[in-house]
Amino acid sequence: MLLKIYGKGRPFRLFVAGLHGQEWQDTSDVLLNIERPSSGTLAILPVVSRGKYISTLDGDFYKGMGKLIVDVVEECQPDIYVELHSYSSENFHKLVSSTRINEIGVPGFSVLENNVLMGSVSPHIRRDHFPVEALCLTFEIERLDQSSKEFAAKMLRVVKECRSRDGFIEYMMERYPNVAKKAIEDYKKFYGS
Ligand SMILES: [Zn+2]
Repeated sequence: MLLKIYGKGRPFRLFVAGLHGQEWQDTSDVLLNIERPSSGTLAILPVVSRGKYISTLDGDFYKGMGKLIVDVVEECQPDIYVELHSYSSENFHKLVSSTRINEIGVPGFSVLENNVLMGSVSPHIRRDHFPVEALCLTFEIERLDQSSKEFAAKMLRVVKECRSRDGFIEYMMERYPNVAKKAIEDYKKFYGS
């Protein structure tokens, strides 16, 4: 297993990429190029599986090929957890669709810049393995798009310096208020509060 740990202490941030199929080709190097945080810990798992593609929304993912993530989460109890995925441009509309919640039970992604999408992580890991106050995010890079990759790297550099969920929300409220508001609404729907 390739788990790299930079820094020490809290907050503990865990970034994972290369979760399934060919995604490692677009995502692993982004994590490998991130520097250590100025305080606390950053752990990176650049490749989880190069095996076949099983969606993280499939209940079996985190029990099988994604079990490695659950093991690290259980052991380190991250305050901040980020999954970096990639998508093909033909799936863009499906991923950002406002009806995604009705179709597959998870909200559509928000669009940041350079076609980088941001959303929540699968309920299969969010609900079972993280406390309510943890910050759990997914970023989706458009495949084969260098500018998308660079923007995602920029966002990860922001998140690696965040100390809490509130710190990140503050950053987002300043720069992407609509995205931040949607994320908060989705989060409340998810926890029913
Ligand atoms: Zn993925």
